[in-house]
Amino acid sequence: MTHKQFAEEAYQTTYQGKLIRLQSDPPAVILDSTIFYALSGGQPGDTGELSADGLTVRVVDTRYDADRKTILHYLDPESPVPEWKTGQIIEMKIDWARRHRLMRMHTAMHLLCSLIPYPVTGGGVGERESRVEFDMDTADFDKADLSQKLNQLVTQNLSVDVSSITDDMLDNNPELIRTMSVQPPRGQGSVRMINIGQGIDYQPCGGTHVRETGEIGELVVTKIKSKGKQNKRVSLALVTP
Ligand SMILES: [Zn+2]
Repeated sequence: MTHKQFAEEAYQTTYQGKLIRLQSDPPAVILDSTIFYALSGGQPGDTGELSADGLTVRVVDTRYDADRKTILHYLDPESPVPEWKTGQIIEMKIDWARRHRLMRMHTAMHLLCSLIPYPVTGGGVGERESRVEFDMDTADFDKADLSQKLNQLVTQNLSVDVSSITDDMLDNNPELIRTMSVQPPRGQGSVRMINIGQGIDYQPCGGTHVRETGEIGELVVTKIKSKGKQNKRVSLALVTP
């Protein structure tokens, strides 16, 4: 199991961990703890660098292993495979500009959820544009109107707070789960909760977020598209890269 340092401190850009093992095919590094976010809940895995013994290798993707607990830092297959030893200290550095854009976009998706009170059936976070799919049969929402409301929530500079509730509390309050396609981050008897603006959006989430909504900057809803009878896809983008 890899400790998820990114869940505790989303703004940490460098960090040290101990090597647990190396995987050769495809080449990947497993550490005891990491600041690299692993693909989950529609947010892509981080990229960046790992260094030790004077060798730096590129991490091109970060994903969970089949056990969903171990995190694999996938290396560029073109790089030399490091000859690091188990227990050795490895320096980490994430591609912060990319990750910060993903954090802004991911937080913006929560704001969109607060404006569209329907179950979420899917979504994907991109660096410039993201999409959220809702289970609704009519498009009662207008791009300009949603954009304006999103930008009001950004301008209010709402706080984004991380807390947790017990699995039992979540089971007794199933309405807190907005996303039908992603299981809440359960595991150790508690579930990580994200609270934006003291209840404007409050839902289980294991992703990385900005501290205040003002950091997202201006947003624009670019598309509202029907993806089937009960499915509408809303796309939104960052105006300032
Ligand atoms: Zn989230």
